[in-house]
Amino acid sequence: MNKNEILTVRIEDMSDTGEGIGKYEGYTLFVKDACLGDVVRAKIIKPKKNYAFARCEEVLEPSPYRVEPPCPVHRACGGCQLQALSYEKQLEFKEKKVRDCLTRIGGFEAVDIKPIIGMQNPLGYRNKAQFPFGVNKAGEIITGFYAGRTHCIIENDRCLLGSSKNEEILELIKEYMNENHVSAYDEVSHKGLVRHALIRVGYHTGEIMVCLVINGKKLPAADRLLDRLTQVAGMSSISVNINTEDTNVILGDKTQVLWGSDKIVDKIGSLTFKISARSFFQVNSVQTERLYGKALEYAQLEPDDVVWDLYCGIGTISLFIAQKASKVYGVEIVEDAVNDARENAEANGLTNAEFFVGKAEEVVPEKMRAEGIKADVIVVDPPRKGCDQELLDALLQIEPKRIVYVSCSPSTLARDLKYLCQEKYELVEVTPVDMFPMGVHVECVVWMQCCGFEPK
Ligand code: SAH
Repeated sequence: MNKNEILTVRIEDMSDTGEGIGKYEGYTLFVKDACLGDVVRAKIIKPKKNYAFARCEEVLEPSPYRVEPPCPVHRACGGCQLQALSYEKQLEFKEKKVRDCLTRIGGFEAVDIKPIIGMQNPLGYRNKAQFPFGVNKAGEIITGFYAGRTHCIIENDRCLLGSSKNEEILELIKEYMNENHVSAYDEVSHKGLVRHALIRVGYHTGEIMVCLVINGKKLPAADRLLDRLTQVAGMSSISVNINTEDTNVILGDKTQVLWGSDKIVDKIGSLTFKISARSFFQVNSVQTERLYGKALEYAQLEPDDVVWDLYCGIGTISLFIAQKASKVYGVEIVEDAVNDARENAEANGLTNAEFFVGKAEEVVPEKMRAEGIKADVIVVDPPRKGCDQELLDALLQIEPKRIVYVSCSPSTLARDLKYLCQEKYELVEVTPVDMFPMGVHVECVVWMQCCGFEPK
């Protein structure tokens, strides 16, 4: 395969970064701007040994699943890798991805994978957005999204996945910056003040949090920003977060409240949650209720059960469990999130939940060795890299009746399930949930049963 060679290829899959994937005489081609189902002429840009990166030169046969993307900048932005595919096909693609991973990586042949739980309205679902600030060629302050892995901001204040409030808030921030000569941060020179605006909007409560991330200690003339933002209906929390590091991590360690509370409140089902700027909170509120509903169904809790909820964030799953079990222990690495979890337990009148700060792969084995752990059910909800081996070994030793694995990465999920299901556990059922319509990622809930314990 040579650079600049042009090949005709049918796109049969999509990569995590949104390229169309096709095969050509055993080579895998990652074709930028090609869509699942297209037949394209692809130009090889970067050939490697067994695969190559290519660019779509011409769509010879457009995919029957193509739709007009609702967002005008979707191609440049790259945040919505699947926007040019019909939603129905997106769901089918995600279901297939889960099945492929479980068979190819996990070695599971006959898995019971339930139909993916999709959304009725797959836009406007995000309750959180982080907009970077920059300047355009004319020197005007702009906000939008980084294109691919670049430093280049694609101007877009009206992301269709987010709340319609974002645009109004960004406009007010830009007005304040222009009027008071407050600069936007430049990633390349590491100069300028305002890096990002983090905006959260409570789906059920309408409460709004705005946190400006700054490359400095103080926001000049902050009162003038507050005068504007406090006019927005629902505004509940305005803060600055200090991040003076030369890094692409968005938030720094220190957050100072400028106005209102340091948290906003939102609901999931009957429970209320307080959310800090730095805490993880599921971004899709509608689908979160369905995801947790499935996790609870799989946990089959009984009133006497003792449950561990690992990677518990602000205790969302933990508190649903606490309503149905005798005791729940949560483990989470981010201290702010654990503090939120404790506060949330109290605010919901739940006294049977206890939380530990630390890495799940350290806290669980340590506690197991020091005092023993008895657990009827263990829930894990790790980030994309999945669970550490030390943790999986501890789970096998603790031997709960059921393990409920909530996963945002089918490949690491399949790897971990393979390990757990070598002898002790049986994979009973998997339900994919579409938490990120228009994007490539897919979430799953998995029910594993310890061999020897019959499911109810
Ligand atoms: N179950 C929660 C959070 C899931 S996201 C919910 O549904 O809202 C994953 C969480 O794992 C994040 O809160 C992250 O901070 C935490 N985390 C990441 N690595 C961890 C580790 N090694 N040990 C414990 N928690 C970790």
